[in-house]
Amino acid sequence: MNDTKAKLRLEEEVRRNGVTDSRVLAAMNQIDRLDFVPATFASRAYLDIPLPIPCGQTISQPTIVGIMTQALQIDSSHRVLEIGTGSGYQAAILSKLAKRVFSLERHPRLAADARAKIIDGLKRENVTLAVADGMMGLPEAAPFDRIMVTAAHDDIPASLLDQLADGGILVMPVESADRAQQLVKAVKTGKEIEYTDLCGVRFVPLLEGIAHD
Ligand code: SAH
Repeated sequence: MNDTKAKLRLEEEVRRNGVTDSRVLAAMNQIDRLDFVPATFASRAYLDIPLPIPCGQTISQPTIVGIMTQALQIDSSHRVLEIGTGSGYQAAILSKLAKRVFSLERHPRLAADARAKIIDGLKRENVTLAVADGMMGLPEAAPFDRIMVTAAHDDIPASLLDQLADGGILVMPVESADRAQQLVKAVKTGKEIEYTDLCGVRFVPLLEGIAHD
């Protein structure tokens, strides 16, 4: 199958799995997943599956990228914080929808690779990448209209909820005692936070501190 056909088939599958927002589908179309997948997995870039990236991490399944992006209801005035840059694929998609994207990664090597792809390669100048422990958020740039966490933890770090603007939305995989993960959407209104479970997911863990690799 050629790339055009494989891309169309992937978009169809993502749509069938519930990603119907045309702005999200357009943003996903504009960013080529092949650019973010390690060369060894190039033949699987347009399959709806997560794939390994360096440092024992993963690039998410396209359907999940779509569901999380859609849940954030991003508009072009929004400042968005992503925790877990990984390959940079999700950050590149967010940059097509938001005014400004801040993405934090604890592995210096992944952050450097993502910078080469998103900033040097794709020239997405509205993206700021940093090596940091995302558990603490990015207080100097807060508040954020939207926050996406792409690694799982047993609760949503309080610092991230604090850095969410009034009316803001956060999505994050939350792990329960039996290790099952739910994608949770949190909507902040004043001091109130309303939580909704979206679907079952499987993400790598959110870990404390900067990695030394
Ligand atoms: N959004 C990514 C998926 C990355 S997988 C993509 O589009 O490819 C999750 C990433 O979260 C991993 O790269 C992992 O190193 C990172 N991570 C885990 N805990 C973190 C933390 N506390 N701060 C920043 N990044 C973290």
